[in-house]
Amino acid sequence: MSTKTPTQLNLYAYQVGFGDCFLLQFVYPDRNRHVLIDFGSMGLREEDGEDVMMQVAQDIKQRCGGRLDAVVATHRHADHISGFATKAGGKGTGDIIRSLKPTVVLQPWTEDLSLDPKARAPKAKVALGTGSRRAVAALSAMNDLSEQVTQLAINQPKNLPDGMAKRLEFLGRDNTKNLSAVENLAHMGRSGKAVYAHFGMADPLRSVLPGVKTHVLGPPTVEQAPSIQKQRSTDDEEFWHFHARGVATANTLATGTDGPFAADFVRAKKGKLPLESRWAAKRVMAARGDQVLSIVTMLDKAMNNTSLILLLEVGGKRLLFPGDAQIENWSYALSQPNVQAMLADVDLYKVGHHGSLNATPKSLWKAFKKKGGPSKKARMTSVLSTMPHKHGSEEKRTEVPRRSLVQTLRDGTHFHTTEDVPAQGLFKLVTIPLG
Ligand SMILES: [Zn+2]
Repeated sequence: MSTKTPTQLNLYAYQVGFGDCFLLQFVYPDRNRHVLIDFGSMGLREEDGEDVMMQVAQDIKQRCGGRLDAVVATHRHADHISGFATKAGGKGTGDIIRSLKPTVVLQPWTEDLSLDPKARAPKAKVALGTGSRRAVAALSAMNDLSEQVTQLAINQPKNLPDGMAKRLEFLGRDNTKNLSAVENLAHMGRSGKAVYAHFGMADPLRSVLPGVKTHVLGPPTVEQAPSIQKQRSTDDEEFWHFHARGVATANTLATGTDGPFAADFVRAKKGKLPLESRWAAKRVMAARGDQVLSIVTMLDKAMNNTSLILLLEVGGKRLLFPGDAQIENWSYALSQPNVQAMLADVDLYKVGHHGSLNATPKSLWKAFKKKGGPSKKARMTSVLSTMPHKHGSEEKRTEVPRRSLVQTLRDGTHFHTTEDVPAQGLFKLVTIPLG
């Protein structure tokens, strides 16, 4: 047998609460290769204790024998990259990952800091258009805004309707810049080879994974997806257009000193208002809270749509890792010739966005040919990393994971979820024979 083809994939789906962390161990006859896809958390299970992330980092280190072939960070959300953060004295989980000297660091093109007009990094090697540059700058503005929303939720929870502070804080925190993690990824990229990928790019992992072909199905660049931009320009939720006006509004809300969120305003006016007006004031605040929440939800989605979508082809098997990509990111790939055909044979599906409904578009699910009941031959496998009651709302049927989707996955695939990892357990191991 050739030493250049893996015979098996051991997929370690780490239990990181609400987040993603997957170690792909490709078993080769000569030596195993290791790819880490994401390492982040936005909330751990109580039963697992606080040092879970450190245990996960140590476990990764041990399993890969002190050397990673590649690190993939699908997008900038904390629940995918917080584990890459470093600490003074080298005591952070990100310091451990850095010590594993990844040969390739793969991220979406939106993370190419040299595209940010404010960044001091060297110029991008691949010239992207002004539209793409603007999108990168907008992402950075989104991070700033999210920081303010987080502060708003923490400092003024009483001015917000019930439960909203918690949701705002979650979305705000997930969308803040995670500077330490971002810098560490850039550092590891400079030490090894940084690759910033977009739809259709030539195999980015070719040099480190012999016998494996990696297709990049997303995200598209702004220049690749002008039709989507146009098509959706009148929609509430545009693709690469980040609602400059909405951002400005939320900015005023979050930082204004005389707006209805400002503590002074509430203290000054509330007591003096007649009873009926107090009721009205409360409704106005609720409406404003809703507005901020809807804007932050939109930004959260926009960031999810910067997710890398990777399809790995190896030993006759197809493995799909779409990060948190949602319908708008997917729709570009799904509209391209041959992509539907490539997706038809997916054997392993990393469930998009922790099981939210719009991250597994119907057209994608429909494309999978290997789904079916337990008697289905060569039945596909699905792997979900999630934690309930963290994201979305049951009332609006946007809860993550979405119950109906989980049921569909259970019925139609060999289904694995990190929710089934016992207390103190570190991961769910999924084994896929190759070739
Ligand atoms: Zn996520």
